[in-house]
Amino acid sequence: MSTLFNRIINRETPAYIIYEDDKVIAFLDIGQNTKGHTLVVPKVITESVLTADEDTIAYVNIIAQRLALKLSDVLKASGVNILTNANPVSGQTVPHYHVHVIPRYTEDELKFLVSSNSDTIEETFTFLKDHLG
Ligand code: AMP
Repeated sequence: MSTLFNRIINRETPAYIIYEDDKVIAFLDIGQNTKGHTLVVPKVITESVLTADEDTIAYVNIIAQRLALKLSDVLKASGVNILTNANPVSGQTVPHYHVHVIPRYTEDELKFLVSSNSDTIEETFTFLKDHLG
């Protein structure tokens, strides 16, 4: 399957590429939730963290950490969110595994919305103890 990110990897779609090696590419997210918001994308095509092999997940996250450190340093960020979405219900819009590196600044206005569910934590814990094996 050809994805938008595969087209960026193949230079068929332009992107602001800030890092590349034989296994991953990293480029600025067009949405720039904060200054320096970057996506780390494996060159192997796999839909999400739920389908990726462990070596790919490990390498993508190693590069995400390295870039987070460098971006924080040069952009003077105070922290970072490193996250991935899996499947549309989570907010995934591009079906090609990627990790967001989002530098955080004292004065930025990025908010992650929280919601609750109707089960108590005790009910959830009891269910999981019975089913996780
Ligand atoms: P997700 O919603 O987790 O699947 O993330 C996909 C991200 O890709 C979004 O944050 C988009 O802003 C970003 N995006 C979409 N098109 C492009 C593009 N052409 N170049 C860079 N980032 C993009």
